[in-house]
Amino acid sequence: MINGGSDKPKSREVKPSSRLKGRQMFKARAASRRLLGWILVGVVMGANSSAFAFEPAVEGRGSPVAREKLPAWHDGLLDIHHINTGRGNAAFFVLPDGTSILFDAGDIEDDFEEKYAPLKLGPAVPDSSLRPGQWIADYIRQFAPKRMTAIDYAFVSHFHTDHYGTLLPGSPVSAHGPWKLTGIMDVAEVWPIKILIDRGNPDYSFPRPLREQQDENLLNYLRFIDAGVRSGRLKTQGFAVGHDDQVLLRHDRKRYPTFSIRNIAANGEIWTGIGMEKRATLNADEIVNQNGKFNENPLSLVLKINYGDFDYVTGGDITGVSEPDQPAWFNMESKIAPVVGEVDVMTMNHHGNRDATNADWLRNLKPQVLVEQTWTSDQPGGEVVARVTSKHLWQGQRHIFATHIQDATKVAIGPWLTRNYQSMEGHVLIRVQPGGGVFDVYILDDHSRERPIKSHFGPFVSRPE
Ligand SMILES: [Zn+2]
Repeated sequence: MINGGSDKPKSREVKPSSRLKGRQMFKARAASRRLLGWILVGVVMGANSSAFAFEPAVEGRGSPVAREKLPAWHDGLLDIHHINTGRGNAAFFVLPDGTSILFDAGDIEDDFEEKYAPLKLGPAVPDSSLRPGQWIADYIRQFAPKRMTAIDYAFVSHFHTDHYGTLLPGSPVSAHGPWKLTGIMDVAEVWPIKILIDRGNPDYSFPRPLREQQDENLLNYLRFIDAGVRSGRLKTQGFAVGHDDQVLLRHDRKRYPTFSIRNIAANGEIWTGIGMEKRATLNADEIVNQNGKFNENPLSLVLKINYGDFDYVTGGDITGVSEPDQPAWFNMESKIAPVVGEVDVMTMNHHGNRDATNADWLRNLKPQVLVEQTWTSDQPGGEVVARVTSKHLWQGQRHIFATHIQDATKVAIGPWLTRNYQSMEGHVLIRVQPGGGVFDVYILDDHSRERPIKSHFGPFVSRPE
């Protein structure tokens, strides 16, 4: 079916396939034939009717795939796993040459529901027999390249515990030093981290000295990195805003010349779009209140991945909506969005909370696929659902996947949520084919320790630069 609407050429899309089923789709030959086929479709569409876009034949639901195991990663694939533990964010990337990235690994305090009643946490999945960081380590074991022995790069997007781990009464002490295990430290106990990148390194002084904050969770994290660096087990780096040479393919870079990672923003500094230049948009005095407190979220790291035509952006809890009680600088998204440009896939900033994923962000990025990493009952905000489903902000088809949406949230937001989200439960894997031209979305069962495929969406054609 052809939609004679006003889509621009870059909004061209293909329908999710409902014909490719079972093992057939997983065979390498079939995959490459399919890739060629979609490229040809793209070329023909581009030549003849660039103003047209395909409508998805099946709006909403992907092809059920009978609980098969995900075929193993192989050279050339880019896998981006958004892992659900029910306790904060975690994403695991396998880059085309096998280089690995962990982007956040959180945990949530035990008394969250007491402190923030009546908000509710989602269930801890697959169960609470392991801590969230241990489940993340186990997930990595299942989907990592066979030859992987360590995580090449780990990022902490900002210093909130749902992104790096919280101390709980039962948090055990590490076998390697004086820090307690939670979140990213639990992952590092199983998978050594080669380079750890956060927004504070090396002096942890923005917007004020972080070591003086008396925040036990942050001090525990700092013990972990200080001891790791001292012992030589770990290297740490600050996030070099503007650079595309900090995070590199470490195993076979020459083979994948179209792959790169750009550091877009952190601490209010934003890439200018020119070379590796950056500009500062926040000053410390402005964002710290008279009690010495400040909000971490607007300081989050924003990272963009390019692989051929494929683009992906993730931005931690970066904020975009200045509510009446917040100052104008709180809106970081509007300043950052123009240098991000159009992407194929984005995560919804700040878990889909109402103060993020603003109209400028969506107008500029025009994503085909949105991934929401959730853990509490106010995610997503109803206003965010209105924005991500709006055809006034951008015209193209979009497919929205959340790691977990609670029943109470569905009841509150209604069909605008449930009819527009393609999946509301499960790990969300973006698998990009060699070269970056085509990608698929797989939902993996987060209640199972075996993590079989629940459903499959795609293939999608990456939009030309
Ligand atoms: Zn968060």
